[in-house]
Amino acid sequence: MNQNIVSCGHKIDIGTRVVLWNEGFVCPNKRGRSACSHHDPVLNDAPSRKDSAYKILQPESAYKELVQRVHQFVLHYDACYSSYHCHQVMTESSFKGSHFYLDLDGTVYQTCDLYWKTNTAPADDRQGNERAIHVEMANLSWEALAKESECLPSRQDKYRKKRGRWVLELPNDYRRKIRTTGFQTNPSRTYGTRGYFSRKINGRVVRMWDFTEQQYQALIKLCIGINQLLPRIKLQVPFDKSSGRHPLDRLKNYSKFSGILGHAHVQKGLNGLECKHDPGSAFNWARLKKAFRTLSGEPPQVISNSS
Ligand SMILES: [Zn+2]
Repeated sequence: MNQNIVSCGHKIDIGTRVVLWNEGFVCPNKRGRSACSHHDPVLNDAPSRKDSAYKILQPESAYKELVQRVHQFVLHYDACYSSYHCHQVMTESSFKGSHFYLDLDGTVYQTCDLYWKTNTAPADDRQGNERAIHVEMANLSWEALAKESECLPSRQDKYRKKRGRWVLELPNDYRRKIRTTGFQTNPSRTYGTRGYFSRKINGRVVRMWDFTEQQYQALIKLCIGINQLLPRIKLQVPFDKSSGRHPLDRLKNYSKFSGILGHAHVQKGLNGLECKHDPGSAFNWARLKKAFRTLSGEPPQVISNSS
């Protein structure tokens, strides 16, 4: 069982299941990074080509260059049922892609070498993908709510309460594609009796159920592995010391931030770009911060608001 994430011949064992592109999903729409020079520049911002066209020349120097250029790991929800569904959406598009998918059961998929660029979050300066790698985490966001669903309309909410636990009702086609047989999708945390979280992000109230426990555990391992592979991506998340809270809106200094942040932190939709809200109101930033503090040996900090 593979546990490595890979870039330019460098591998890091992250201690959890990783399905690489040779046995899982191949990113259908890679691009060359214009800030990197170890590939044919015709691959930069060009229409997608067949996979064999994407060759990394001199992988060792390419790796050194990539380490210098990339300093953000951007988190997304995919607004899909599962990573299989997300990959279908990417494949139907002529430009969408993401280096990683994180499925409901915590399976990590790496879809291409991190050397390549994926057009996952242009950011408000349109340079976002040059400095970043991305993960699309399976979560329906507001598509789970009957009255707010846009792309996946349904008459009832997609999470139901069964024997006291919230559970996502996955259509059979998607349930069968989850690698853990018989996996039940329960949110890691729930809010009150309604189950879903609700907070305003970049001007929109985002109502959504939380990611799964398995997703958080795998995501933390993935972040740690990425930091080892690409150390400019520091183990830190946006945090406002004066308020003691994790900001959810677009950051002022979003292009300079070195670490792990959300799509909403880099893109509120200037210059004709879409306004983004992911990874959304349910995402537990405090949990990541705590995991990284524990790792660095710093004493735990009491945080008054855990949402
Ligand atoms: Zn996104």
